Amino acid sequence: MLTRDERSPTYGQEHVEGNVSDFIESTFASRYVAEPLPRYQLSEYGVPAHVCYQLIKDVRALDATPKLNLASFVTTWMEPEARDLMQDALDVNYVDTDEYPSSTEIQNRCVSILAKLYHAPSVAGEEGRGDPVGTATVGSSEAIMLGALALKKAWQTRRKAKGLDTSRPNLVMGRETHVCWEKFCRYFDVEERYVYAEEGRYCATAELLEPLIDENTIGVAAVLGTTFTGEFEDVQAIDAMVDRVNAKNGWGVKIHVDAASGGFIAPFIYPDLEWDFRLSNVASINVSGHKYGLVYPGVFMENYLGSTERSITLNFSKGASQIIGQYYQFLRLGFGGYRKIFLNLEVVRKRLRRAIQLTEHFEILSPEVGVPVVAFRLTTLTGSDGKPHHRMYDEFDLADRLRMRGWVLPAYTMCPNAENIKLMRITIREDMSVQMADQLIIDLKNAIRWLDTHFIFTAEMAERMQKKLSLERLDSSTFNSDDFTVVRPC
Ligand SMILES: *Cc1c(COP(=O)(O)O)cnc(C)c1O
Repeated sequence: MLTRDERSPTYGQEHVEGNVSDFIESTFASRYVAEPLPRYQLSEYGVPAHVCYQLIKDVRALDATPKLNLASFVTTWMEPEARDLMQDALDVNYVDTDEYPSSTEIQNRCVSILAKLYHAPSVAGEEGRGDPVGTATVGSSEAIMLGALALKKAWQTRRKAKGLDTSRPNLVMGRETHVCWEKFCRYFDVEERYVYAEEGRYCATAELLEPLIDENTIGVAAVLGTTFTGEFEDVQAIDAMVDRVNAKNGWGVKIHVDAASGGFIAPFIYPDLEWDFRLSNVASINVSGHKYGLVYPGVFMENYLGSTERSITLNFSKGASQIIGQYYQFLRLGFGGYRKIFLNLEVVRKRLRRAIQLTEHFEILSPEVGVPVVAFRLTTLTGSDGKPHHRMYDEFDLADRLRMRGWVLPAYTMCPNAENIKLMRITIREDMSVQMADQLIIDLKNAIRWLDTHFIFTAEMAERMQKKLSLERLDSSTFNSDDFTVVRPC
């Protein structure tokens, strides 16, 4: 029964007749949905929980669906049991090791599993390289900062022992390395020395890195799976080069391998590829649990050899959930489980690669060996008359068109000095089945077909436009790109 609230003198003015909102629990009958709420400052009294839930859910409703986000390496599917365990640990601050010793124990198991996977020598002093040390970090940036800091410290120690100058450290790497490497150099006053990518070569090579190394080089960063094309840098060749350089000059240059994505792929499907602690100059490795470690975002692992400091993270507090999720995956899948999943991804990768090639609209830029991605760009199109057609659209327009179907397959430009190359990359994650891949290809073809009908410019049209322009004596500066935006092929 609805009663009139006699105590409220304003009743009836702000509410619909006969409706006493205080008694109605329905979210959309509450006044909060009919009033703008302060967005950038605290409101005075807050809102009820169910309203709060709905309002925030609605804010998020326009976001992409994570499963359809083909740009990201980050895990979008885990088993419900893993979710449960991770949810249970939401209130655990990992850093309180006395109160939550199980989290530390689980982290140590994960570190040990990875150390073994990366062929770290297990006995102190063996091969003169010491015990493996590892830690979970909040992010890849933190992991890489730590690895690079260890290189810098070791370099300083070596130089100081010889009474040499330590004021001008540098780090040698390819320009395709992740932005966190640049950050490290800026934050910790290290000069960055790059090998730049170019058309046809999207990775640094040992030969190109070598001349950049000198006595002030703290180390070389090698990437196992670049973010642009998924390619593995040849860490074995880099190691052999560093060996030579060190032997010749009496330096102690070491390598950090950024294996954020490749660190989980290589051991399972390319076990013979030597990129890890089997190589004598590899001092540290980082890997992202939230990429091919198959855990929801927030966990990275770092392994060092011969480090003396044990409490080495930059960040203090962090949740324990991701560490627990990682251990769940290790225990649940074992070596064989990870291998099976990655072999499935290879099937999907090959199928997508082939289908994209068959469209004849694209050139594939990702290599056959690497992390499971397909990177590609539009090719120059030849019309049925054999003459070149000028596309009036690019990879960015194609990305927009695909977004209409829900796919997030963004276009991007290659790293500095090769940024004239536009490309797209499909990241194949655990939850992409062949069925989903086939649907993607259908949608990709449809998008291309639509763009071709609406935005193509034939040689004939170019000629006609040229004539028109010269007749009207217009120079190229008045030749506005708007003239071209929607041109139908004849
Ligand atoms: C993803 C990635 C990073 C950084 O990881 P985030 O999850 O984006 O913080 C660093 N290096 C490489 C090679 C990566 O693929």
